[in-house]
Amino acid sequence: MKILVVGGGGREHAIAAALCRNATTEICSVMAKKNPGIAALAKKVHLCRETDVKSIVGFAKEAGAEYAFIGPEAPLEAGIVDALGSAGIPCIGPTKAAARLETDKAFCRQMMDMNNLDGCPLYRVFHSSDDAVRFIEGYDGDLVVKPIGLTGGKGVRIMGEQVDRAGAIAYARSLKGDVVLEERLLGEEFTLQAFVDGNHLVPMPLVQDHKRAFEGDTGPNTGGMGSYSMPDHKLPFVSKKDYTRALAIMQSVVAVMERTGSPYQGILYGQFMNTAEGPRVIEFNARFGDPEAMNVLSLLSSDLSEIVCRIAEGSLAASHVSFKSRATVCKYLVPKGYPDTPHAGDPIMLPADARALLYYANVEKSASGALLTQTSRTLAYVGIGETLEEAERSAEQAASGVTGEVRYRSDIGTRALLDRRIAHMKEL
Ligand code: AMP
Repeated sequence: MKILVVGGGGREHAIAAALCRNATTEICSVMAKKNPGIAALAKKVHLCRETDVKSIVGFAKEAGAEYAFIGPEAPLEAGIVDALGSAGIPCIGPTKAAARLETDKAFCRQMMDMNNLDGCPLYRVFHSSDDAVRFIEGYDGDLVVKPIGLTGGKGVRIMGEQVDRAGAIAYARSLKGDVVLEERLLGEEFTLQAFVDGNHLVPMPLVQDHKRAFEGDTGPNTGGMGSYSMPDHKLPFVSKKDYTRALAIMQSVVAVMERTGSPYQGILYGQFMNTAEGPRVIEFNARFGDPEAMNVLSLLSSDLSEIVCRIAEGSLAASHVSFKSRATVCKYLVPKGYPDTPHAGDPIMLPADARALLYYANVEKSASGALLTQTSRTLAYVGIGETLEEAERSAEQAASGVTGEVRYRSDIGTRALLDRRIAHMKEL
């Protein structure tokens, strides 16, 4: 089977590696910059902008791709699934209309609201910054200010955490309209990802990501510094009731999308805040999370290529999807100065004795074989173990062995951090 993988980050390396565990699968790849991990797995590589729909469709046809797996959100917004579909190539990824769940925050909230879905925070959509500013001035409480469109996870400002009221007002004004304001949710975040074939949804293990740049959840927001999952595929601060509710919310989204004429096919990513009142939706993404893809795909024990066929046919069932009962810890290494002033071009060396899985991201391999940092996240190690401690030890052992101008968060996946999460949940 020939499958095109679109995207060149750690997430797409994990997708490519999982697909290639089926010896009869051949992958080809489209990416903006050559990811050395994906390039080593792919039969053919085409370098172009990931939103260049015409170029991607041309390459897919020439390479004889039978299916395409879309990693990032930008090509979904550009309509890659619609274009590949018209060329007879089914995709793992939603159409442009269905991807609005992620690409248009106003659409997402209004869809939940109009269909009375559980878990929707209080929100207001504004198309004029003056109106948004007036609302913030008159609101007694903390708000979250979000641009309506895609921002790579870095567009949100939280009052009471990152900015004060004056800062929130200045930020809303700078967005020039098209703003969503939401109540600030307090709690612990978790990620629930699922395979969706338009109608059936099959969940994957819960994961917790870490957005903040520095240890102890401090510093600016990033694309994600690392993540962990537990051997039972749940998280200790998410009760069975909370989990069931979060899953039901995801299922009702899929049902609404089907009913309203934009059936959802691909990976549905739910980011939830577990509050004192139960799970609330922070956002949906129309693709795997990066890093969360690396946690779950490293555990997938069934055949991802078969899952791709099932999703395309609309015949996916829970029996097609299984995961090893292990913990995972993913630690991302990032370049010096990341995220605000990242420095590119620094050479790094990897340890020869790493026990963890390695996923390359934004790193260049020079003609002489040297690895050079770029401006985005460099590479990730995923430790797998019977326990969280064991998984963390192997991720840490590998990450700490990398030399050069990169850094990572050594607290991710530690028992101490997990205990803090559990205590925080109890305090709410
Ligand atoms: P997003 O770009 O929607 O993923 O948001 C980035 C981060 O902002 C999330 O990971 C949350 O930590 C935080 N966030 C977003 N919306 C809210 C909210 N309504 N209340 C509290 N935190 C939020």
